[in-house]
This record gives sequence, C-alpha cells and structure tokens, in this order.
Amino acid sequence: MKILICNDDGYQAPGIVALYEALRTVADVEVVAPEQNNSAKSNALTLHSPLYVHVAANGFRYVNGTPADCVHIALTGLLGYRPDLVVSGINNGANMGDDTIYSGTVGAAMEGYLFGIPAIAFSQTEKGWAHLDVAAGRARDLVQQLAPSIEMLTHSQVPAVAPWLLNVNIPNLPDEQIKGVKVARLGRRHAAERVITQTSPRGETMYWIGSAGAAKDEGEGTDFHASQLGFVCVTPLQVDLTDHERLPYWAQTAARLSQGQS
Ligand code: MN
Repeated sequence: MKILICNDDGYQAPGIVALYEALRTVADVEVVAPEQNNSAKSNALTLHSPLYVHVAANGFRYVNGTPADCVHIALTGLLGYRPDLVVSGINNGANMGDDTIYSGTVGAAMEGYLFGIPAIAFSQTEKGWAHLDVAAGRARDLVQQLAPSIEMLTHSQVPAVAPWLLNVNIPNLPDEQIKGVKVARLGRRHAAERVITQTSPRGETMYWIGSAGAAKDEGEGTDFHASQLGFVCVTPLQVDLTDHERLPYWAQTAARLSQGQS
C-alpha cells in the first residue's frame, strides 16, 4: 500500500512524525506537509503566490502552503504516482463536531478524497501529545484493518465504488484504557468564544480569534460522547453541502417568487 501523509500542524510536529514512524512499518509512506502550522486552514488553496517544496533531513517534503496545497500538488504532479490512501495528522487536539469545517487536518484528507482516493484524518482529543505513541499505534491498526477496502478501491474497475473519508479522534489515554472503536456522527459546538483584543506596542488594537465553543450536541451517538467514554471515534464524512431536506421548501418558495406572489 502506498500512503501519502500530510497534516496541518507542520512537518516538524510530533504528531506527523509518530504517524509516519507507525505507518512505515506496514506501507510505503511519503510525507508532504506544510512548513508552518496551518491549523484551521480548512480546504484553502494558495492561488496567488508560488509554492516551493523542500526536503528535510528525514526525507519529509515540506511546502510553504496549506494542508490542501500539499495534497493537491502531491497528487497533481509532485509524487508521480497515485497513492492508495491519504492520511492526515495526527493533529494536536480534537477535531469534533463543527471543528471539521475549519480543520486543516480534515482539509488535507478531504483533498485526497476529492481526487477519488480514500482518506483518513487523525486527531488526538487533547492538545499536548500525551500518549502519542498509543494514538499512532491505533492509527496504524485502523489502516491495516481497512487495507482490504483500500485494496478494492485501488484495483476496482467499477466506477461506482466510491472512496470514503473518515474523521478519527483518539483519546489521549494509555493503550489499556482505550475501550475500542466506535462509529459516531458529528456533534455540534456552541458558537465560538468572544474575540480577544489587545493593544499592540504601536497602539493599534489587535484581534485574536477566540476559542472554539464548548460542545452543545454531545449526547449518545456523537463523536464527543464516544471520545469522552474512551473510544477511538470514527466518523464517516461527506462533502455535499446541499440542504436536501429543505430542497422542496426552497423549490416551492422559488416558484412562488417567480409568479410574483411574495
Ligand atoms: Mn492542527
């Protein structure tokens, strides 16, 4: 299996090093990752400045761009082959509920998925890298368990076989305290905390984006709940933003508007 590894915390982050070390024991792996921390860059692509690729002493390639840039250029010319799987992470902190909209970790995986390659975004639920070796081991286990499905996608002649995109959160726990794997939907967070203002040395007001909101929808069946209980939580993601449920409502509304009855 050929695996492309990316992240959003930057190519020197402990999370991507641990993921690389774990996966290289079971697959052919290559790293193409951002030079700097690109957390919360989502799916952003750099269109108005050039991207440069450099090779670090450990063989990791790093790019002066976003996570999606890294995967995009890797898949459209840099690698020269098509990987069987794109993985991203391991992120420094949870990507649950609404986080997945902003997450560069998810963005990198999603870029692979948009190119038709199965992809997995890995995150640890707490910042600080505690029990990172455990998380990397669990990530490797999951990749190995999914190998038959990945193999089928790589070699399938049937175009209807669709790739998948998984968001995985791993609790920062010792191995024996992790309960197993649970599949769950995304929960929801409250709106983000207030913006933080400070005064710069030159007297200007500086605005700092506040923290993500606390969990709001965190009941049974959500990623928040499963992680809280100590499970490795797997959420299958889709990309279609269409509000399918309200398509009929908007179709009716549009029909009324076009008849001039508001
Ligand atoms: Mn990050």
